[in-house]
Amino acid sequence: MTLPKDARGVVALDDPRPRGVRLNAEALIGRRARAVDASGIRRIFDLGAKMANPINLSIGQPDFPVPEPIKRAAITAIEGDRNGYTPTQGLPALLTAIRERTRDRAGWRLDDPSIGTMVTSGTSGGLLLACLAIADEGDEIVIPDPYFVMYPQIGPITGARMVTCPTYPDFRMTAERVEPLIGPRTKAVIVNSPSNPCGVVLRESEVRDLVDLCARRGVLLISDEIYDEFVFEDALEHGTCPTPARYSEDVLVIGGFGKTYACTGWRLGYATGPAPIIAEMLKLQQHSYICAPTPLQHGVVESFAISMRPQVDAYQRRRDLLLDALGDKVSIARPGGAFYAFIEVPPRLGVSGSEFVERALAEQLLVIPGKVFSHRDTHFRVSFAVAEDRLRAGLAVLSRLLD
Ligand code: PMP
Repeated sequence: MTLPKDARGVVALDDPRPRGVRLNAEALIGRRARAVDASGIRRIFDLGAKMANPINLSIGQPDFPVPEPIKRAAITAIEGDRNGYTPTQGLPALLTAIRERTRDRAGWRLDDPSIGTMVTSGTSGGLLLACLAIADEGDEIVIPDPYFVMYPQIGPITGARMVTCPTYPDFRMTAERVEPLIGPRTKAVIVNSPSNPCGVVLRESEVRDLVDLCARRGVLLISDEIYDEFVFEDALEHGTCPTPARYSEDVLVIGGFGKTYACTGWRLGYATGPAPIIAEMLKLQQHSYICAPTPLQHGVVESFAISMRPQVDAYQRRRDLLLDALGDKVSIARPGGAFYAFIEVPPRLGVSGSEFVERALAEQLLVIPGKVFSHRDTHFRVSFAVAEDRLRAGLAVLSRLLD
């Protein structure tokens, strides 16, 4: 059978759609989605995509390859036909690995029934499920300012009110700064150390004080530890990243694999902490993400045994390059981990963070204005997760602009 064709040779079938009538999709968008803002960081990505060969110091992921054994394990799982669902909670072997690591870092007992553990779809997935599990309309969650871009947006998504805790100029989210913000509706405090965007690592005494405060006030402490392996020698205590989990099993620890092993696109994280909260998160995961990607869960089962020290040491050298290049021109809270520095635009320049970033863009240098991470527009974020020659080139531009 030959189908009728029009003059251009395109098959002309009867179009069943009522002509000219299109769905007014805009009109269907709900208030909750409208209230979510993703504009700040997207603008920088769009600009970067348009530039021919920018010096890109805006990147939020590591620049080294995924360790070979992790890649192999994932490939073996795919080739071995292990591609179906895992239990919602995650692969049992991976859950055991996560619990053993929490035992080793924080002293939590493997067989403590008051502790639950689950694998999540990224750290973001874990954070979102945790907040959905606890927050009712109008409940409050305290977050640092500057914050990871997702934190304020958890508000419109869950109905919670996100209360910011200003941490300028040293970016330390101390109990002293958090305490006045806790009220009758406060359900949780989110702490992030090492932090995005500042790289600041809290000390043992600081995380312990936060644990004490939250325990006294009956509030959940959620510890976003996505950068816990990215801690430089000068910020380590007892050979590890200080974690509030060392002081209580009531902390909800949310961690991830993406940054540590450079597999951000694998969307793998975990949550471990109070069993009743994990149980609710599991219910929500069952009806949303279902489970984290199965072959990739297989990929990271053995990951905690792989030392990332050489990569972290390389990032420490880049951090030092940055401090050497800019340290005496501007005020920088020394990054103890992650791969970011949050730098103040010197007031003598008389420009805002955003205006300074425009100047950098004119020099083909991409950095992110502080207002993307903050209510203030006085700083900018530099990522040093880039090759050393690019970093040096970027620092030379910044050094000139900051003079
Ligand atoms: N928390 C912080 C502090 C982050 O910086 C990021 C990613 N930039 C996330 C969570 C989200 O991580 P994931 O990709 O594992 O969802």
